[in-house]
Amino acid sequence: LNRRLAAFGTTIFAEMSALAAATGAINLGQGFPDTDGPEEIREAAVRALRDGRGNQYPPGPGVPELRTAIAAHQQRRYGLTYDPDTEVLVTAGATEAIAASLLALVEPGDEVVALEPYYDSYAACIAMAGGRRVPVTLRPHDGAFRLDLDELRAAVTDRTRLLLINTPHNPTGTVLTREELAAIAELAVERDLLVVTDEVYEHLVFDDAVHVPIATLPGMRERTVTISSAGKTWSYTGWKVGWVTASPALVTAVRTAKQFLTYVSSGPFQYAIAEALNLPEDYFTALREDLRAKRDLLATGLEKAGFAVFRPAGTYFVTADIRPLGESDGFAFCRSLPERAGVVAIPNAVFYDHREEGAPFVRFAFCKRQETLREAAERLAGLR
Ligand code: PMP
Ligand code: GLN
Repeated sequence: LNRRLAAFGTTIFAEMSALAAATGAINLGQGFPDTDGPEEIREAAVRALRDGRGNQYPPGPGVPELRTAIAAHQQRRYGLTYDPDTEVLVTAGATEAIAASLLALVEPGDEVVALEPYYDSYAACIAMAGGRRVPVTLRPHDGAFRLDLDELRAAVTDRTRLLLINTPHNPTGTVLTREELAAIAELAVERDLLVVTDEVYEHLVFDDAVHVPIATLPGMRERTVTISSAGKTWSYTGWKVGWVTASPALVTAVRTAKQFLTYVSSGPFQYAIAEALNLPEDYFTALREDLRAKRDLLATGLEKAGFAVFRPAGTYFVTADIRPLGESDGFAFCRSLPERAGVVAIPNAVFYDHREEGAPFVRFAFCKRQETLREAAERLAGLR
């Protein structure tokens, strides 16, 4: 393993899912739904396979049907206009979009400012690109993890190439407010920075939270690479359909890297996700409502079990503080949890450079059946 990757072992998600499999514990670690998405979308994939649509290499940027549907979605929801031919790129999940964006846009030695805790692939991809990550820590404030805008400003130097943001935010569930995003945008314009924004949880927002794509803010469309994924919104994480929307110059750059990572993404699923993007609004409302109920079920269960809970405004993760249980080391806690309670969770510290900041926090996924969440809550209640 080369020096750039030497610090990266097996991802925590694979490690914790293996632990769940080995111990038979309920897996609230890795974020994947235990129920598949809409049947009609699965049928659309089957039809594409049968009809021979996408069984041979699809076009490099993605099939036109999907690119058109992505552009229409950005227009309909956010009033953002993207040309499907020059400003949309289909990728193998958001993971490839992140990798291709960083490999395409970061020069060796460039600094990339990222919100901490950060999704694990950011660190590895910044390293593969030869960049240096500069984390800005989100800290608990009034029941949510919030960004300190002064710290963000202070993190930008002459070497900063881009800001890598994520909203709704994994693992904290924070949804950046319009005001926070406006401050980030202002900084990007002032310091002439690119912004790569991971918005895979764009549809998973609850209560009065609103997802604002930073590309909608003044001066941002031309400097922003927006990333999303079908995995989260339609509960087909195994299909690995993701995408990028950006200006022609930025899409061309990302596509140049993507060509040599996967060349193209799997064909038949692209046709199915084109149909998924065009589902009526009720689909998205029902998805949110279902997850909100699950969030409340798990969050209440965790509170009863003695955790201090950060009830998330978005995503399907809830972060909890273990200190009220008399614990302080999330790693040790998560390693012993299968044996003590028959549940698997993720120690948030893996998403931090400043590990001590993340030490007392653990993440539980609630994209699971209600009976599974109830059973997990009951098991966790036995911890006290
Ligand atoms: N970004 C974030 C913040 C995520 O949580 C995930 C989750 N899996 C991804 C990217 C990767 O998405 P995909 O499965 O589409 O590659
Ligand atoms: N994004 C998912 C999570 O945060 C996992 C994806 C993966 O395993 N790479 O749990």
